[in-house]
Amino acid sequence: MSVFKDNILKGKVALITGGATGIGKQIAYTLGKHGASVCIASRKQERLQKTCEELQAKGIQCSWFSCDIREPEQVEDVIKQIIKRHKGLDIVINNAAGNFPAAIANTSYKGFKTITDIDLLGTYNVTRAAFDAWLKDNGGHIVNISAPFQNLGVSYQAHVAAAKAGVDSLTRSAAVEFGPHGIRVNAVCPGATADTEGLERFATVSEELSTSSACPLGYLGQKSDIANAVLFLVSDAASYINGQIFSVDGGSGIDMLKLGPIS
Ligand code: NAP
Repeated sequence: MSVFKDNILKGKVALITGGATGIGKQIAYTLGKHGASVCIASRKQERLQKTCEELQAKGIQCSWFSCDIREPEQVEDVIKQIIKRHKGLDIVINNAAGNFPAAIANTSYKGFKTITDIDLLGTYNVTRAAFDAWLKDNGGHIVNISAPFQNLGVSYQAHVAAAKAGVDSLTRSAAVEFGPHGIRVNAVCPGATADTEGLERFATVSEELSTSSACPLGYLGQKSDIANAVLFLVSDAASYINGQIFSVDGGSGIDMLKLGPIS
């Protein structure tokens, strides 16, 4: 649970892309537990249905929508369905992303394009469709889930870093253009987050990353750490925060020497 009251999102409708798994699922749970009706969207129907049933069993209002965020028509259709069913859309969390660890020289042209198509264009497609269909006339919140390494030189993640740098840039531009419509747009950059497929995939190239010694706070980020930051950003407590890119990584991103605990 969070430090916020249970009902702060009562009556709000939230779309979480990639909400059937990992960090997205935790965000759906957290926003739902604080009163929002949550809509989760991604490609694999079985996973969507299973997560939806799990969240409903915990008393959360949840519906699922199958779509590939790379396809603007599919995205527009899902947004239309959500608005029709819930009479609106208040919160959009662009969480869906693809990832695989590979050095530039071992990344295929297709692989690089796939990641930028999902992470960057997918975020644009969802943002654009939600703005056009509802947010521009009604206001709302957008939170983009970014990454911790796009401002550094990171090996094995050039494709993701390039796409997420675009996501950060899109976050700032959208914040400036959408602000007059009563829409706040921010981004959260999770550090290595425990118990996620994303971290499991990365652990194959960096064992250190998946251990708590990589973080000054002494423990790996939990999915709830990320979800609580998102909850804060869509709450009224963040009413004047717009266009910001927040690291939620326990300080690991600024720890250059990574020496571990100093005695
Ligand atoms: P994950 O479990 O692998 O989830 C990714 C989700 O995106 C899945 O539910 C997947 O569902 C969906 N997705 C992928 N391609 C899609 C497409 N074309 N259209 C629609 N949905 C699609 O990921 P995670 O590790 O929880 O990460 C969540 C977010 O946090 C991502 O943005 C990631 O970059 C970021 N992040 C994670 C970590 C970490 O340590 N895990 C660290 C930094 C940043 P389908 O396959 O069913 O479509």
